[in-house]
Amino acid sequence: MRNPSSKSRSLKQSLESSHLRTQHRGPMSVHISYSNQCRIIKFPQRQRIAINGFCRVTKYRPCRVCRKPDWCGYTTDEQTSICMRVSNGSKGTARNGGNIFHHNRLFLVASLRTARKQAPPPIEIAPIEVRDAVYQELIRMSPAVKYYSQLIDGPCGLLSRGLGETEIENYGALPRTQKERAGLAHTLNKFLKGRFPEYAVRSTHAAIIGVPGFWQDELGNLQLWNRDYNMPLLVIPYRDDQGRIQACQLHLHRNDLRTGEKKYRWLACPFPFRGASSGSPIHFTFKRADLPPGKTIIITEGALKSDVLVSLRPKARVIATSGVSSSHAEIIEAARAYNALIAFDADYKTNPAVARQLARLIAAREQDIAAHQLPTSTRIVTWQRYKGIDDAVLANMPLETMTILQWISTLDGRPLQEVLRVWEQMGFTPNPVPSKTDRTLAE
Ligand SMILES: [Zn+2]
Repeated sequence: MRNPSSKSRSLKQSLESSHLRTQHRGPMSVHISYSNQCRIIKFPQRQRIAINGFCRVTKYRPCRVCRKPDWCGYTTDEQTSICMRVSNGSKGTARNGGNIFHHNRLFLVASLRTARKQAPPPIEIAPIEVRDAVYQELIRMSPAVKYYSQLIDGPCGLLSRGLGETEIENYGALPRTQKERAGLAHTLNKFLKGRFPEYAVRSTHAAIIGVPGFWQDELGNLQLWNRDYNMPLLVIPYRDDQGRIQACQLHLHRNDLRTGEKKYRWLACPFPFRGASSGSPIHFTFKRADLPPGKTIIITEGALKSDVLVSLRPKARVIATSGVSSSHAEIIEAARAYNALIAFDADYKTNPAVARQLARLIAAREQDIAAHQLPTSTRIVTWQRYKGIDDAVLANMPLETMTILQWISTLDGRPLQEVLRVWEQMGFTPNPVPSKTDRTLAE
């Protein structure tokens, strides 16, 4: 499965960029990310989850356009669908490639009541210094190595993915029971109050609630994440360009995955638990100040994948999104000064919707470089057989670096059609540039 958060994030972006959202967001306001919805315990399954007037499709209310239960969304008034898969017949394309469909008013009557319900105001996210300190302390107190047999060793463990013994210390673990995690939440709240007394007294609720993943139950008890699991959960930090932990993702063990549940989840419980949302930040494996402009970086999806790649190719400098359709603007800004090697999962070869998202990122990056009149290049890394670049490198598969024109010549069928269609919509034509060998991934 591809990372779900990207899909959710892209939905939010499309809704915002299609002028369906009017609420102003200042620099200190909080991102509402659909991806952060925790699994809801005892929540009526058929009730819709609406945030700021938008809903994500579910199996009970699939997308009206593609009929699928995930990735797409619709407005609470049911007037508009944003389909991430089907572009034919849409009324327009949002900035992120979501396709806008306006529906016949006959659909509307049944849902008007729900549309009037207002979501409560979001919890403001804690400043980066606070989040970084709390997450670091969480990883120190509850490291992944504490669960060596479940998370480190064995066929699915971090070592088997290609990480080294010292690198595994960067990851944390959430205990499997809610009770154990509540204990951690309590201790970490005390830690936060000691470390940031001024921040702690400012809020009306427990200070740690501003750190995504933490929330307070009706009795006022602090909680961390949601239900009980069979296995501990791996905590994967997403670091900013200064190495600070901005947010974390959880990796759920396959024994714990319920039907339709995604194995990577943002550690955040904004709804219905009233915790802060994490947004969908990007992850840096290096500090930006240490890498001069004009050097080469690799762009991939998933922080763990990017960490593994650096472990296997120590000279690589990698930026990761949480998925192919998320955080394009952030990636483009972060990579602007550098030559970029784009190394997303290989499912674009067969999945037209994924191909479309990748093509959008490539075109947006090229247009940004042109607008800034930069000499930096964009190339695409491809390989055979494996989905992710980390697995390909681990298996010693040869990597091939291509120009954009060479890359599209490898595509065919519907993926190729989608690439050409989105480029036409964006007014993008790839420039013929000479191919060049890059040593970044060679050692
Ligand atoms: Zn759809």
